[in-house]
Amino acid sequence: MIAVIKSGATAQQIDGLQSWFHARGVKTHISEGDYQTIIGLVGDVSAIDTDLVEGLEIVESVKRISDPFKRANRKFHPKDTVIDVGGFKIGGGNFQIIAGPCSVESPEQILSVAKSVQKSGASLLRGGAFKPRTSPYNFQGLRAEGIDLLLEAKKVTQMPIVTEIMNAVHLPLFEEVDIIQVGARNMQNFELLKELGQCKKPILLKRGFANTLQELLMSAEYIMAEGNENVILCERGIRTFETYTRNTLDLSAVPVLRELTHLPVIIDPSHAIGVSRYVKPMALAAVACGADGLIIEVHNDPRNASCDGAQSLTPDEFDDLSADVDKIREALKV
Ligand code: PEP
Ligand code: MN
Repeated sequence: MIAVIKSGATAQQIDGLQSWFHARGVKTHISEGDYQTIIGLVGDVSAIDTDLVEGLEIVESVKRISDPFKRANRKFHPKDTVIDVGGFKIGGGNFQIIAGPCSVESPEQILSVAKSVQKSGASLLRGGAFKPRTSPYNFQGLRAEGIDLLLEAKKVTQMPIVTEIMNAVHLPLFEEVDIIQVGARNMQNFELLKELGQCKKPILLKRGFANTLQELLMSAEYIMAEGNENVILCERGIRTFETYTRNTLDLSAVPVLRELTHLPVIIDPSHAIGVSRYVKPMALAAVACGADGLIIEVHNDPRNASCDGAQSLTPDEFDDLSADVDKIREALKV
């Protein structure tokens, strides 16, 4: 980090600022130019509040040179992280498809979707039990019963299950869940992230719809700083001025995150696009740009789904998508 000092600052003021930095455990290096003095900070600057420093009377500007995320940073961990979920590996060249309904609705629904997506090549089953709905009057999910139904489907199909947590008090219900999802709306629920950092389960961390990639990485850092390094990042669309789609799928997240972090990156085209007929082209594009996996909403009867029917694929549509994903992956190998 460097702090550019305003011209006119006295030697005494600069000394005072240096002592202020030293008191926070960082060393300083002064560089005096003809027109400007710069203080370079050496050491762990992660706890330095840049806004506060910038607000100090003699400081003109502050610039971070290093990334504020450490554990998620590829610089300190060059090898890709590979997360093994019940024998299915994600990351480091290993690709998986997670598929299933937005919400678990009934034993018949979740089992029939599970069996059909498994037949079509999905290795993990998704299904929301606790649903973060914009309106409190909409279906809120089957909650604990939804998790029981997912576990039943897991027993029959052997598919590992992925479901969203909204409140840390529900953690005991997630004991047999294979991947705990943190939804877009909770990406910056830092207390929840800290609690999830205390467990060892893989966490599927979705990007908030108004969050930068650096904020996503800082949220991953919250989980990792507590000791849980098993984080899978998920781009699921960000809010823009466009209205023909539910959100805008930021596929640039894949190569950018690939460079910045060693964590696996998967794409959710369903929530990004919001329209079922646009899901396949964007899923294929996600595979082509190097995503480590996809999470796709599939429903046995999308028109009567309790949640997100418009973006849900039928089992046949998913089968078609999955076959084309294989073709893209094959083409990338040559
Ligand atoms: C979901 O996966 O069902 C969901 C609510 O996703 P997001 O948090 O991305 O909106
Ligand atoms: Mn959904």
